[in-house]
This record gives sequence, C-alpha cells and structure tokens, in this order.
Amino acid sequence: MVKAYGVFAADKSFQPMDIERRGVGPNDVEIQIAYCGICHSDLHTARNEWGGALYPCVPGHEIVGHVTAVGAQATGFKVGETVGVGCMVDSCLRCEACNAGEEHCCERMFVATYNSPSADAPGGHTLGGYSQRIVVRDRFVLKIRHPEAQLAAVAPLLCAGITTYSPLRHWKVGPGKKVGIVGIGGLGHMGLKLAHAMGAYVVAFTTSENKRQDALDLGANEVVVSRNADEMAKHAGSFDFILDTVAASHNLDAFTALLRRDGTLCLVGAPDHPHPSPNVMILLFGRKSIAGSLIGGIPETQEMLDFCAEHGIVADIEVIPAQDIDVAYDRMARSDVKYRFVIDNASLGAAA
Ligand code: NAP
Ligand code: ZN
Repeated sequence: MVKAYGVFAADKSFQPMDIERRGVGPNDVEIQIAYCGICHSDLHTARNEWGGALYPCVPGHEIVGHVTAVGAQATGFKVGETVGVGCMVDSCLRCEACNAGEEHCCERMFVATYNSPSADAPGGHTLGGYSQRIVVRDRFVLKIRHPEAQLAAVAPLLCAGITTYSPLRHWKVGPGKKVGIVGIGGLGHMGLKLAHAMGAYVVAFTTSENKRQDALDLGANEVVVSRNADEMAKHAGSFDFILDTVAASHNLDAFTALLRRDGTLCLVGAPDHPHPSPNVMILLFGRKSIAGSLIGGIPETQEMLDFCAEHGIVADIEVIPAQDIDVAYDRMARSDVKYRFVIDNASLGAAA
C-alpha cells in the first residue's frame, strides 16, 4: 500500500487515499516518485470531461523519481538511479507499431499510466503518479540525465515535452522554418522552448495579453494575441507548421489561413467538445493539412530527454504540495498557469 491523492467521482475534490501497487515482477522497475507534473489531461480525466473515467482516479503521467527495486530480468536499471515515466506503462510489444518503437500507436492500445483497465493493476485499472511509488515494466522507464537539482522541472518533459517534441521532429521543424505554437500553457511553453532550440523562427499565439513578455522569454521571436484580427492578418499564408495545444474547442480556420503552401496545422490539444468543422476551401488552396499527434514512442521520449539535457531545457514550474491540487486545477482551467504545476510527492506523507 502507498499513499496517493485522487478523486472518487467527477464532482469530488482530491483527497488522500491508500492504494495498492503490484509486486515487482521479473521485468519490472519500482520507483519512489519525487515529483509529478499536472497535465491538463489529468483534469479532463479526473472531472470525466472526455467520458470513460474510472474511479477512484489517481492521475499523473509526468513522473520522476528514483529506482527502489529491480526485477531479475530488468537488467538496464539499478537501485538509486534517477528515472522517469510518462503516459504509458505497457503495450502489446508485438504489433508493427510496438516493433517500430512507436508504442503510443500500439494496435492493441497501450496501457496508460492511469485510467487504463489492466489485469496487472490490483484495483483493475491503472493509477498514476500522484502517489508515493509506482511499479512499471522496464521498457517504459526513461533515463534522466539532467542534474539532480533540476528534477522537479524535468517532470513535465515526460508528457508536455514529448507531446511537442514529437510533432516538431515529424514535420521537420528547424532552421529556415516558420513555426507557430498556439496556447501558451504546459504544452505550449515547451513547444516554444523546443522549436527555438531546433533553430526555427517561432511565433507564439496566445489569448492572454499578460503572457506576451513571457512568450518572448520562453523562445518566441514574435507574439500574436490571437483575439486581435489585425495581428493575425499580418501572418496570413506564411507558416510552414503550426502546433495547436489549446485545451478548448475553437475555430481552426483562423490558423489554417496562416499556413503557406503545403503547410500543416497539427492538433495536440484534446478538447472535450469538437472544434467547429473547418472551412475546406482554405485547405484546398495551397494543399494544406490538418493533422493530429499523440505523445511519442519510448525511444523518441528518451531522445527528447537527452536533447533537453544537452540543451539545458526544463519546464518553468510552480511546485505545490498535493493538498493544493484542486486549486491548481481551477487555475489551469482559467489558463492561469506559468507554466506547469508540479507536485512535490514528499507532501503525500504529510497530514491532509
Ligand atoms: P494548459 O496548461 O491548460 O494549457 C492550455 C492553453 O491553451 C492555455 O494556457 C491557454 O493558453 C490556451 N487556452 C485554454 N483555453 C482556451 C480557449 N478557450 N481558447 C483559446 N485558448 C485557450 O494545458 P496543457 O496541459 O498544455 O494541455 C493542452 C491540451 O493538450 C489539453 O487538452 C490536454 O488534454 C492535451 N494533451 C494532449 C496530448 C497529446 O498527446 N496529444 C498530451 C498532453 C496533453 P493562452 O493563455 O496562451 O491562450
Ligand atoms: Zn499529459
């Protein structure tokens, strides 16, 4: 049994709970969790905004910590080592996608770190990183090569980092490319840092006037307040790639209109209500695409962590005790996040 914070229903507050972890199997790694980031997907799930939430719900898929036990066959890890776990804890490991190291595209659906039915989970479904310890199949455990002092700020890389890194790489963002990042929250602020480090010309799109200076500091060359039609019009037909991280339904035409010939608008935000149907005419003229992308595979997640370690990239964070999760969720829902909340898991041991 380990201490955790979770909710018993969509309309309930977070509360302390004791949860059971499975024993350490031959291929497993047991991790004492030091910090866990708070992703907007945690909020969508805990409040059942997407439907299908399983209760009790213990979210958390931006996990960093230290190895406390290693199964006999999990030879790549040793006790005490600093490691991370992202959005997946298992997959079929047999399909074409898994064989290609794209476990996030597993044809039999990967096992998510929380809210996945799983015979391996003592309660019948997985419970995430708002907890003291977790047991994970070795293949889904990542190596952290950042300095230990940055550990809390590394946590958000495990979801926000890979979710922005993967599409930026897939669509070959780099020098000579003009790239837009829409929504400057947890994902968006990582998108700015990563696209900048990859050498692109980066434009931040925000609905929050008060994030203008921050966006420049995070790596944007220009900032556009997307509610301002004149500012938007200046960029018509000029972007190679736009990454849309917005967590709410909105008009996509405003962004497809900014793409140049063969440009792509890639959606990573996952709103609970569909976006209005896009205007096809804008796509036809100039052969433009609307695409989607989900986190990234395990090899690419390790590549992203190593890229960030090499370039000194971490998230901008506010560390909170678990007792403040509800407050953090309410602030995140209002776009008042600068730019990721991270739980100090040592607080789980404290009285509620
Ligand atoms: P977040 O920290 O809350 O940031 C979202 C940002 O979107 C906000 O800070 C805000 O930025 C903007 N925004 C919010 N509501 C808006 C609205 N009504 N209109 C326009 N802009 C709005 O959330 P996050 O953790 O980055 O996650 C973003 C979305 O990505 C969520 O839906 C999440 O579930 C999803 N997600 C997807 C994946 C994947 O694999 N595809 C992975 C993780 C998360 P401004 O203040 O700058 O406007
Ligand atoms: Zn996430």
